[in-house]
Amino acid sequence: MSRAVLTQSSLSTFRACPRLYAYKYEYGLRRQRDDEALRVGSAFALAVEAEGKGLDVQAAIERGNLDAYEMALVAAMFQTHIERWADDPVEHVAAELEVSMPLVNPETGRQSPLWVVGLKIDRIVRLADGRLALREYKTTSRDFAPGSNYWTRLDLDAQLSLYVIGARRAGYDVATIQYDVTRRPRQRPLKATPETERKYVKTTGLLYANQRAADETPEEYAARVAGAMREDPSRYFARVEIARTDQDLEDFQHELWDQAQALSEAKRKERWYRNPSNCVSSTGRACDFLPICKFSNLDTRVPEGYRRVENVHEELEASPKQVG
Ligand code: SF4
Repeated sequence: MSRAVLTQSSLSTFRACPRLYAYKYEYGLRRQRDDEALRVGSAFALAVEAEGKGLDVQAAIERGNLDAYEMALVAAMFQTHIERWADDPVEHVAAELEVSMPLVNPETGRQSPLWVVGLKIDRIVRLADGRLALREYKTTSRDFAPGSNYWTRLDLDAQLSLYVIGARRAGYDVATIQYDVTRRPRQRPLKATPETERKYVKTTGLLYANQRAADETPEEYAARVAGAMREDPSRYFARVEIARTDQDLEDFQHELWDQAQALSEAKRKERWYRNPSNCVSSTGRACDFLPICKFSNLDTRVPEGYRRVENVHEELEASPKQVG
């Protein structure tokens, strides 16, 4: 029997809401179109991946299912990100490192017959002081000022512990994590002032300065966004080291094992409990499945506005490096 794949995304989904896990990873359901924040974040990740592999970045952004303005936004974010870190003295050692490793019971050392762990690491870099670091790229709209909760939370983040273990098992003795964050700009494309609201300066016949005769083009929008990002780099970009001790990694392996057991039990019983406290996030974002969560038979039917995917771990490809 082939073993099922466990990823950090699937496990954190299970922790958040077992029913949500079932929708995404048992039934393969997805919304037809992700919301804008996800689309932009995914396209930025595609651009980073293309750059890491020496591929065409613009073509990667175009694969992101974006409209012309969203593509302009991602291109501006990526370009200014490259400029911001152009002088960062690191050596790139590996990019898009995909690893598949056994899930091991930390108490007995035995491998799980049910699960393997899959992960993909954005980059392995060598820092100026010679240490190897695992680099993780993220986009966010949250506050990541120094000392904010954004960074405190990362001290507890399971994904980073898993990635350190994965990198080491793949032969990269990483000493630290370098977390690279880019803020998603809030600027929206400017629209032409409606004819009925236009006001003209009597002496010149021109529109008032705060009004527009035409929509901003995607190129103009990209230039405006890039300008704002260049003007205030510390607001838009951060690269911070996050530590993991041996004790952190050991604790995480127990957590991983225990959570996989809980997931195995839910799978065996086919009981996927709902967690209604996760239906709407603290920022007001509703779960993708809220409109259909009371429906039955979602393992066999696909409601309007949703699709079914074959590869439920879309972040992974077909040929990971097998380790362990
Ligand atoms: S709507 Fe709520 S209960 Fe349903 S899957 Fe989403 S988080 Fe879980």
